[in-house]
Amino acid sequence: MKKLLRINLTTKTFRYEDLPQDYIKLGGRGLSSKIVFNEVPAKADPLGEENKLVFAPGILTGTIVPNNGRISIGAKSPLTGTIKEANAGGSAAQKLSRLGIAAVIVEGKSSSLTAIKIDKNGVSFIDANRLKSMGNYALIDKLKNEHGNNISIMSIGPAGEMLLKAANISVTSPDFKIRAAARGGLGAVMGSKNLKAIIVDDLDANEVDVKDPTTLKDAVAELTKGILSHPLIEGLKTFGTPILVMMINTANALPTKNYSLGQFAHAENISGEHLVELINKRPESAQVHRCMNGCIIGCSNILSDEKGNEIVSGLEYETLGMVGSNCMIGNLDDVARINRLCNDLGLDTMEMGAAIAVAMEAGVIKWGDGKAVYELIESIKDNSEKGKIIANGCVNTGKAFGVSRIPHVKGQSLAAYDPRVLKGTGVTYATSTMGADHTCGNALPSPANPEYNPLSPTGQGPVSSFLQRYFAAIDSLGLCLFASLPLLDIPDLQKKLMECVSAITGEGYNENYLIELGTEVLKTEKRFNEMAGFTSKDDRLPEFFSKEALPGPNTVFDVPEEEIDGVLKF
Ligand code: SF4
Repeated sequence: MKKLLRINLTTKTFRYEDLPQDYIKLGGRGLSSKIVFNEVPAKADPLGEENKLVFAPGILTGTIVPNNGRISIGAKSPLTGTIKEANAGGSAAQKLSRLGIAAVIVEGKSSSLTAIKIDKNGVSFIDANRLKSMGNYALIDKLKNEHGNNISIMSIGPAGEMLLKAANISVTSPDFKIRAAARGGLGAVMGSKNLKAIIVDDLDANEVDVKDPTTLKDAVAELTKGILSHPLIEGLKTFGTPILVMMINTANALPTKNYSLGQFAHAENISGEHLVELINKRPESAQVHRCMNGCIIGCSNILSDEKGNEIVSGLEYETLGMVGSNCMIGNLDDVARINRLCNDLGLDTMEMGAAIAVAMEAGVIKWGDGKAVYELIESIKDNSEKGKIIANGCVNTGKAFGVSRIPHVKGQSLAAYDPRVLKGTGVTYATSTMGADHTCGNALPSPANPEYNPLSPTGQGPVSSFLQRYFAAIDSLGLCLFASLPLLDIPDLQKKLMECVSAITGEGYNENYLIELGTEVLKTEKRFNEMAGFTSKDDRLPEFFSKEALPGPNTVFDVPEEEIDGVLKF
């Protein structure tokens, strides 16, 4: 049976604990949220010692189920004040699972900057003062040289050390590219504990316990075949998530000029198609990259410059939308370099894109000036006031520069989908337990569901409600969201997934398993937020989305409040 690993940074001690009965069937987001709910006072200062940081692999993680290695990182968010789970790919979750760890709970605060190493012998505490202010790229190289290639690293850059609220937590892929648990400012929570990095080494660890390996093997074969048969997967394999740039631009939902437009005149220059063109011309670039072992899709990429020097790996649609079109930056290399800089400092590109566009609206930087944006973000390293304003999020930026059009919910910026056109996603932004977060339930139109009209003001509540439950369950399994999308269109594949869960855990599950699991997770998270003081009044989009019609479709966000309030009613 897996254990909890509790690490106290104040006393530099650790211990393994048996899983309490009500944690046994949980993993990933379900487990991290339950632990935060049980152990962090809802009114705690997110950057104070009462807050805890939880790292939980999913229920499927470390087994042969494809795309199963997301790590869920939970805490109370300094950006939103809500409960938070941010998950990332990479290799840390699979290694923790193989070490028999259901979740790592980090509590207390180290008196000086420290790193932790977790391996089969337990936990060692490593002085990290020599790593102070080091960017993630140099840090990862250094730790890899010191600890070998069998490790995974979860780390913060200077932004986390500076407690900036857009700070993220980086997680390395098997080949040491950077992935990020991006949202909610969890890097600042790690920084508040004086924790620079967690190194996980699973050398000589056991295989993950599976109750029925034969059934699992058969179910995995059919699940894999089914996922790969879905038309969406071919597009993801070819272009990755940047395939969405032209699709969302055509739908008039690509955030442009701080959400004042839904189409960007230079969308083609930052599109997936253009990215692939560049990748094919440039040495050491790669159209397909896998962020974890066992990924059957490979939606990620590597973009290098003309000489073959890597700019960034994992240039995603969200970055292209928020840093690109939303700031009117129509040069893909500029966006990629800003992405690299954010990775190095440890900053969420979505929150940064939203904040910079707000600053542009105030006239702090010219629209589209990628070089000036780079310099402003770079100045954060030198403690610049303007840089810190932006790196504390879009709400902070709007307040500092006197801008009222701030695209956020509960303090977290929207993602790269305009809610006036994609109204179901707008309902998810409004009601998610984590602030505006598209991964909680992005209601995109799909050829498999031609009846769904994303522009209709009614009927969006039930769509968002279902998706939020479904993805809360997927996040608990540790499954990559892209591998889970085909299951929405092919219900038989959901049965195969449940067969996998049963074969691993030895528990029988009924056909409502995913929705029941997701509902339990959301109930826990919503209860935490209520105890922290949030009410239905906080489940609202900013007023400008219901006042300013989006040019083109000439539509506002007009989902009735009663429908919004019914979404997470339990
Ligand atoms: S599909 Fe993409 S995000 Fe998912 S596991 Fe593969 S590379 Fe990672």
